[in-house]
Formats: sequence, structure tokens, C-alpha cells
Amino acid sequence: MLENVSFETLLVHAGAQADSITGARQTPIFATSSYQFKNSEHAANLFALKEFGYIYSRLHNPTVAVLEQRLAALEGGIFGVATASGHAAQLLALFNLLEPNDEIIAARKLYGGTLNQFNSSFKQFGWQVRYFDESDPQTLLNVITTKTKAIFIESVTNPQGNLVDIELIASLAHQNHLPLIVDNTVATPYLINPIQFGADIVIHSTTKFLTGNGSVLGGVIIDSGNFDFSAYPDKYPLLNAPVPSYNHISFTKTFGKLAFSVRAIAVGLRDLGAQQSPFHAFITLQGVETLALRMRKHSENGIQVAQWLANHPKIASVSHPVLQGSNALINKYAKKGFSSVFTFNFKNSTLEQGVKFVESLQLFSHLANIGDTRSLVIHPASTTHSQLSVEDKIKAGAGPDLIRLSIGIEDIQDILKDLEQALALV
Ligand SMILES: *Cc1c(COP(=O)(O)O)cnc(C)c1O
Repeated sequence: MLENVSFETLLVHAGAQADSITGARQTPIFATSSYQFKNSEHAANLFALKEFGYIYSRLHNPTVAVLEQRLAALEGGIFGVATASGHAAQLLALFNLLEPNDEIIAARKLYGGTLNQFNSSFKQFGWQVRYFDESDPQTLLNVITTKTKAIFIESVTNPQGNLVDIELIASLAHQNHLPLIVDNTVATPYLINPIQFGADIVIHSTTKFLTGNGSVLGGVIIDSGNFDFSAYPDKYPLLNAPVPSYNHISFTKTFGKLAFSVRAIAVGLRDLGAQQSPFHAFITLQGVETLALRMRKHSENGIQVAQWLANHPKIASVSHPVLQGSNALINKYAKKGFSSVFTFNFKNSTLEQGVKFVESLQLFSHLANIGDTRSLVIHPASTTHSQLSVEDKIKAGAGPDLIRLSIGIEDIQDILKDLEQALALV
């Protein structure tokens, strides 16, 4: 029924149907930890992965499954695995690929929390992260080693909102027989489908634009099914070698293209326990239904604010792509508009100016989130990116003089009025 329907129809319908017992049209919240087996054989088959079905909500839940199917459909992937947060999605995706002493190569411009995760906690697993300049993709080739297992980028960077050449990076990754993992949180599948440009795995923090109202945490891993992990058994033993806890099956041999997703559930969620709550999945599903409507308004408002700021005498620069002259990237990756996350800085910037500005805003909320219906403001260098050195902050696009905005869907005149009165006080 949902074949050949448009993206906006998938937003409302993919993965969901009226409940077969009650007729409930909205996806019910299945608040159950576990599911009754039909008999002992059924139970044994489920545990041995001989049959798919619900066992326990650390692995699977029917409400969460609707969200997983919907997001996989929106990204053009073959399977989605929802997680407790965006960070959990990153952890579980890499937990399928990396053993101690393995490496990934990541873009320099990443969300601050991701840099913390990569630089501190991943070290504890013996995972090493090397960085390249995503604005000069060829630099990737200088850092690939025999231990590299994946490339990781953001399609649109947080905080600056820069567009990244996904297609070029994907082709460089594939020439080196490596999968490309793309964090599509800031763009959302409405603006960019990384899989169309060659991404192999897409991850999201659903906490942001997908839920869209600053209410619940969540994440998802979506597999395109396009990277053939079975072609590299020595490089990806976690997906290829016999698994003792599941009767020595090999994920790639038993599940083919679903190997990555099945392992993320059967090992990742089973042992790391970072599953998404059905309550959160329910709320995110409500948000996803209106994603297209919201993103159009976020994009429109974001462009207007960026242009207004760029013309203001107190502002030195604004990082929004429309002002950065990156036309080739805009034509390719911003056909439907822009995300509303970007940064700016003052002329003769001082820390006091930034503090005064942030504290003078009244409509904007000063907080650590993006992708809310409300307009948001933060000073990344002292908050989201505070745990980095000054040099690394600048590399990540979160220099000490930058203010990050996430423009909401309020009336544009009210947003501009608030910015104007705060700027007058600086
Ligand atoms: C917020 C964010 C994350 C982390 O997601 P959580 O849901 O907060 O764990 C990852 N990547 C980007 C780009 C983000 O903005």
C-alpha cells in the first residue's frame, strides 16, 4: 500500500497501521517489558534467532518498531534500530565494527558531545578516532590505516550548519573498502537522504528535529544494506565470525543484508541495554508526522535571521550556508532548504558581549538543545564544546567568540524583534 508514495505520506503512515484487535488508529504505547511465548519451542526459537518476534523490551518493542520502520522508510534504508539517545546510536553502530585497537576516521566538525564520546569514553574501549578536514575530503586519504573500520561525518555540522560533500566522501571511503556512517541529525531526512549520496549507515539523534519539540531523548541507526560486510571477513569479524552465544551462527551468513541490524539488536541492545522507551518512541512519532511542515518553516525563518544578522552593524559573520557562497554544495545538498542551526560572532568580540546578548534575549531560550519549535541560543565554547581545548574548539567550529542559534517556528517578526532588542543592549 505504501509503495510509490511521497516522502510526506511516509511521514504520516510508514510502519503504522490500525491495531488489529482494538482498531486504535494512533500507534498504541506498548508499556510491557515482556511478551508471552506461544510455547516452549517458540521461546527457544526466538532466543536462538531462528524466528523473529518479541521477547523482552530491551531488544524489541512494538511501539518502538513503528518508529524504526518509519525512520528507515524516510531514509531509504532496509532496517532501523532505535536507541535511547543519539549517543547510544553512535556507540551501537561502532560496537558492530570495532574491537580494541581498531580505529575510525571522523570529520573535524562534529557536535561537541560526539567529540567527547570519541575522545574520552571510546578510548576506554581501546577505540581510536583520527580526524580529517571534511571541507577538504581528500585529506581523509592521509589518515586511513589498516586498522580503520569506518568513516564518520555529520551531513550538516552542529553548530555551524556547514554542508558536507557526502557523495565525495562516500566515494573515497568506498575506494578504500570502508563504510561511511553519516549523522543526519541536523539535516533530517526531509532535507538530505545521505543514503542517496552513498552513505552506508545513517544515525540520528531523534531528540532534535525529528521529535521537534524538545521533549524526549532518542536515537536510531539505519542501515542502507549497501555495504557488503561479508566481503571482508577478516576486517569485520564481529559481523562474520561464528557467534558462541547464538549457536555459532555468523550474522552475515545467517541474516545477509540484515546482519548489521540484527547484531545491533542481538548483541548491542542485549548487552549494552541502550534501548528506546516506547513512551519516547510514541512522542517522536507524533513529531515525525509534521516534520516536513516544520522543516519548511525552520528553513525559511533560519534564512531570514541569517540574512538579517549579516546586515547588522554589530555582527562580523554568520555561518549559515546561504552566506558562505558554497553554491555547488547548496545546489546538491540544499534543494529543499536549510536546517536552522548556525553560528555568528560580533565585531570586536568579547566574552562579556556574548554573555550580555544571551542573557538579554527574551523569546529565545538559553539551553543545550537544537531542533525545537522554540528558538534557542547557546554559547558552544563554554557549554556543548567546553571540554575541548581552544584549538580543538576552533577546529570543531565552536570558537570562543561564536554564538549558536537554532531558529524555531515562531513568527519571524517576533524572532527578529527579540534579536534586535538584545543586540541594542550589547
Ligand atoms: C544532539 C546530537 C547528538 C547526540 O544525541 P543525543 O540524543 O543528545 O544523545 C549527536 N549528533 C548531533 C549532530 C547532535 O546534535
